[in-house]
Amino acid sequence: MEYRKKKWSDTWHWCKNCSNWPTSDYDVRYTKPTSGELCNQCKSKEKDGECK
Ligand SMILES: [Zn+2]
Repeated sequence: MEYRKKKWSDTWHWCKNCSNWPTSDYDVRYTKPTSGELCNQCKSKEKDGECK
């Protein structure tokens, strides 16, 4: 799983189909981030089984 966060944001995304998925100027993690916020849209996609 790849987690991405915009440099100036505290919100981590992990669904590539999230409308806020960062494509430039982002930090990347390959483990679940321990700081910052987790994106609500990514959370709901994951819950619905739509996280890609
Ligand atoms: Zn997201």
